[in-house]
Amino acid sequence: MTSKELKQKSVLYRKNILKYIVKAKAGHTGGSLSCTDILNVLYNEIMNVSPGNFSSPDRDRYIQSKGHTVEALFVVLADKGFFPEEDLETLCRYQSHYIGHPTKKVNGVEQNTGALGHGLPIAVGTAIAGKLDEKNYRVFTLMGDGEMPEGSNWEAALSAAHYKLDNLCAIVDKNSLQITAPTAEVCNTDPLDEKWKSFGWAVREVDGNDVDALKNILKALPFEAGKPSFLIAGTTKGKGVSYMENVLKWHHGVPSAEEYDLAVSELNQTLIEL
Ligand SMILES: [Mg+2]
Repeated sequence: MTSKELKQKSVLYRKNILKYIVKAKAGHTGGSLSCTDILNVLYNEIMNVSPGNFSSPDRDRYIQSKGHTVEALFVVLADKGFFPEEDLETLCRYQSHYIGHPTKKVNGVEQNTGALGHGLPIAVGTAIAGKLDEKNYRVFTLMGDGEMPEGSNWEAALSAAHYKLDNLCAIVDKNSLQITAPTAEVCNTDPLDEKWKSFGWAVREVDGNDVDALKNILKALPFEAGKPSFLIAGTTKGKGVSYMENVLKWHHGVPSAEEYDLAVSELNQTLIEL
């Protein structure tokens, strides 16, 4: 995809995220908007995974550790053809499989996630399996900065370096906010780069809302042979909607009809200006 096409995709994804959150009257708005560009680049430029190869053992794996921002994942999976977009009309409805966290009952979802600190350990196990089976697939996991303090992450980090998992890439959506407050106030995990380097990972930083920068850096995987890759993606929570950006209440705030109209008009204007 061209740079412009990728940027257009991000805007369309953001519009759909808001559309289905408003329809469901529930969702994790700010975090879905912060990680949209990361998912866009992974699914449209980097990963070898599609509805056609999803049952193949050779597919790349994506495990969304920050499962609560499932709306971003669902919108991208629908766009890639894993299921009809109309299915998202049932988001958060009784008996729908499209609930507030990823579940394997939805085509294209690799793992059930949402309990924080679990995605990386699963990804490490999946990457070890790939090495044992002599497969060339890669494993990607997207983590929130708010889940960094979970102890299971650090056990997994040790294991990944020990087993030299250069088929593994962990990306942290570093929007610097979590449900109740800035992450630095809840449990400060900075400096992330030094910590992960000291655990034996190859670490890079990128603007996580810049699709061109994301594409360039993810094309360079693994960052170092014989090491797992850790990408610190600096993002803005609520990205793309002025009144949501860096505002805590939009962690799981649902826009009113007027707020939704304003968000859509802003995103339409962004589309025009691309
Ligand atoms: Mg966060």
